[in-house]
Amino acid sequence: QPRVFSGIQPTGEIHLGNYFGAIRQWVRFQDEKKAGKYEQCIYSVVDLHAITIPQDRDVLEKNIFQAVATLLACGIDPNESILFLQSHVPLHPQLSWVLGCLSTMPQLGRLPNFRDKSKKLKEVPLGLYTYPVLQAADILLYNATHVPVGEDNVQQIQFAQLLAQRFNRIHGRTFNIPKIMLEGGMWCRLRSLRKPENKMSKSEPDAKSRIGLTDSPDEIVEKIKKSVTDFTSAVTYDPETRPGVSNLIMIHSLCSGQSAEEICNSVQDLDTGKYKFVVAEAVVEHLRPIRTKMIELMKEPAYLLDILKIGTEKAITLSEPVWNDVCFKVGISPSH
Ligand code: ATP
Ligand code: MG
Repeated sequence: QPRVFSGIQPTGEIHLGNYFGAIRQWVRFQDEKKAGKYEQCIYSVVDLHAITIPQDRDVLEKNIFQAVATLLACGIDPNESILFLQSHVPLHPQLSWVLGCLSTMPQLGRLPNFRDKSKKLKEVPLGLYTYPVLQAADILLYNATHVPVGEDNVQQIQFAQLLAQRFNRIHGRTFNIPKIMLEGGMWCRLRSLRKPENKMSKSEPDAKSRIGLTDSPDEIVEKIKKSVTDFTSAVTYDPETRPGVSNLIMIHSLCSGQSAEEICNSVQDLDTGKYKFVVAEAVVEHLRPIRTKMIELMKEPAYLLDILKIGTEKAITLSEPVWNDVCFKVGISPSH
């Protein structure tokens, strides 16, 4: 039975990259589920992943609520999808342990996310190293078949596929091999507004590098105005040689539905400086309804917790049979 699983870390304000790379697809899968294509859509705020890099407890707690509110504001419907907090379902770290026993150190060290994030830290926590195993557990615990993620997560999901195959080979057919679902099949990776060679990222300290879904119109204009481009003034799309301006065109295209080519043709008489205002306008309009909804939801933490509670119950119901099967196959935790 086709099941969709994906997660997002409460490591900061959700940004346009998360939205266009992942969340927008989540909503589309939810619509397709309504039409009968999937049995379940399971979406998680993965707080155990967030603590793989140092977090302030107050900020983390706020970010958890904000992530839930943002997902709801973007159109995740808790009656259609299962929306829950990872740490509310203790089977995630339990399955992670079992899968960790099938993983090897060189495999983990090669994954790009680890390499990028560990570079910035003096001492690398074990959790940062092993977190792809937990990510695999997140997916396999629901026997998910489809995993909609952004392009930066492809190698991690491939690792989850590998673990599923390895488990199946050793213990007999247990897990589906989850398919990686990339936005429209195209490489949708939004870049940092400050360092276009990097991806837009929640955990990057410089908030000017990203556009948050709840940034005010003024902040959006300011950030785009200050975004790094290059010394050519024409607006042309060439991600290889002109990553900065091409990223703006990509953002504009995603917000307006026009292709990059259509955009470049229609702004021929603008230089990049003036073009930035066109992009900002498109972003402001696109985010306006989400922002309004989100500000409302943030006033209702009790409501957000209720939604998570309902989601947790459903998540536990789906995951228990899978976990019991794993225990039986491995020979741990005998229950009869
Ligand atoms: P962090 O910096 O803490 O890792 P993040 O911005 O990478 O945060 P995640 O919670 O790790 O966000 O990822 C959530 C989803 O958003 C994933 O599916 C990921 O692939 C996608 N995503 C993250 N950044 C981008 C981006 N710049 N462009 C497209 N998709 C992205
Ligand atoms: Mg990430």
